[in-house]
Amino acid sequence: MTTLTPDTPVFVAGHRGLIGSAFARRLRAAGFEQILTVPRAELDLRERPAVEAWLQEAKPGLLVLCAGRVGGILENRDHPADMIAENLAIELSVLPAAQKLGVPRVIFFGSSCMYPRECPQPMPESALLSGVPEPTSLPYALAKLAGLEMCRALNAQYGSTRFYSVIPNNAYGPGDDFDPESGHVLAALIQRIHAAKASGAEHIDIWGSGRPRREFIHADDIADACCFLLEHCEDPAHYPINIGVGGDVSIGELAERIAKVIGFAGQLRFDASRPDGAPRKLLDSSRLANLGWRHAVSLEDGIRETYAWYLSQRTEETTG
Ligand code: GDP
Repeated sequence: MTTLTPDTPVFVAGHRGLIGSAFARRLRAAGFEQILTVPRAELDLRERPAVEAWLQEAKPGLLVLCAGRVGGILENRDHPADMIAENLAIELSVLPAAQKLGVPRVIFFGSSCMYPRECPQPMPESALLSGVPEPTSLPYALAKLAGLEMCRALNAQYGSTRFYSVIPNNAYGPGDDFDPESGHVLAALIQRIHAAKASGAEHIDIWGSGRPRREFIHADDIADACCFLLEHCEDPAHYPINIGVGGDVSIGELAERIAKVIGFAGQLRFDASRPDGAPRKLLDSSRLANLGWRHAVSLEDGIRETYAWYLSQRTEETTG
């Protein structure tokens, strides 16, 4: 990275989460010596005075804002107030605090659910705010749109900051939330299909029609793309930038692939009483591709690795 050197302190906010942990791994691999993290019990990112005090002490050259309240389709449906309030609270506290304390660079993560539900596919950055997002994730989407606009506004108003918004598609990988109720589809299906195999079940119910299409990107690829962008696209005026792999699969196909990796031979049934959510969310990542970036982890390899990680955690739980 040309803009940052290995001795630049980088604050990864939300380092225990899927993207945050991938970011810390990526920085470590690139030789960064000062990766700053803080447990939630020690710093509540919603508390601006506490965040300011922490930043004053830590003086990061880059802040990667991975913290936030996230969840799958049911979590969004059942906790809409928490989704909007917690994400807005973190943005309202961390972003202005970072500007005030002179943090020169921030990476802020948006989400593909910010795009309109009826958006033409694939979705280019120019389609943001051209229509209303999917209702099941609207509170989360609005909080993320507010954060994106806050980054833009801080850059415009103060001129001294480079706050970059990126929009990754559905992230997955080691460290994901495998809870069948709150998790996103890929991790939730790994958990549920594994359990179905272990119990000798003859079938498993996949939520919805199986027809919605999703684009999945490994968290390591998201971290790698961000580091690439820091090096190759320094002007905040070029952001937000989509981060995707350029292809999607139906939920039915995803379930089949996961079942194959796990070795579940039972029937995959579809439960139409569960919500489908957005019909399709494929990002147009051509701007990132034109800069020369390409993802490294195929969906096949990513599912294998994530399942292996899931199994290793279970072993740890039972032996530890
Ligand atoms: P979304 O991308 O915001 O819709 O969130 P999810 O990752 O939770 O869901 C994606 C799609 O997968 C939706 O159509 C869900 O109905 C479907 N799906 C199928 N089975 C599951 C499951 O076990 N868990 C989750 N979260 N989604 C599932």
